[in-house]
Amino acid sequence: MRGSPLIVLDAGSGARRLGQDCAKREKGFNPLSSDARHNDELHFFLSHVHWDHVQGFPFFAPAYVPKTRMFFYEHGCAPTAIQDTMKTQQRHPNFPIEFQVLPSEVVFRELPAQFFSPVQVGAAYVAAFPVRHPNGAFGYQIKTDGKAFVFATDNEHGDALNPVLLQAAQNADMLYYDAQYLPEEYPKRINWGHSTYEWGVCTALAANVKTLVLGHHEPSRDDFGLAKLLSRAKGFAASQVRKKENRGKQLEVKMAYDGMVCEM
Ligand SMILES: [Zn+2]
Ligand SMILES: [Zn+2]
Repeated sequence: MRGSPLIVLDAGSGARRLGQDCAKREKGFNPLSSDARHNDELHFFLSHVHWDHVQGFPFFAPAYVPKTRMFFYEHGCAPTAIQDTMKTQQRHPNFPIEFQVLPSEVVFRELPAQFFSPVQVGAAYVAAFPVRHPNGAFGYQIKTDGKAFVFATDNEHGDALNPVLLQAAQNADMLYYDAQYLPEEYPKRINWGHSTYEWGVCTALAANVKTLVLGHHEPSRDDFGLAKLLSRAKGFAASQVRKKENRGKQLEVKMAYDGMVCEM
């Protein structure tokens, strides 16, 4: 039985769990069985190839299922081809199974050279745009059924709202934004390619976004630290909404976590 095409954004450590979810966590699931039910058409849109965004792929179970088809979307302007990175990270002796011998079908596609030119995946349209990050990275705007989701991880805010990101996020139902640092931590991390909840809130309000999801958490921050960050972000959003220029706007702020499911 064929599943619907699935759009996958990045392939960090969460890719392992996603692979299990694709297999519907069936009891006794045998990936080699021809009746196994799973999403067998997967479309990978990667922000960039820094290791935290690709390291989960070797543990992504559907890649080992012969009938799976995986599409990877390359950016012609990126400094490194995704294909090269995927092959390198599984090259002997790094991993027992090389990328080239995966039993699934792998197809590399080039994205349109023009940013904001959508490609169709099932009923969805996915458009890429650049974000600010060392060696470059990309965000994605996904539209389907009159709803819009924008993925903007690994974006450094700079000293003014990013007009490209504002264009991408305009009236979006949900914006995923890089909020790795607290505002007081950021000055020691300039040019590391990440941002803060304050810039996420300001971007979301300026673009009239409904829900802001904070992610790309600082690895050394524990759950208590993240809860504090979320509480501060909500307080900051409430203070911003009271400003004259944001009159009439509302913004829900959420914190991304493992296994989170959001409906728009
Ligand atoms: Zn990065
Ligand atoms: Zn990253």
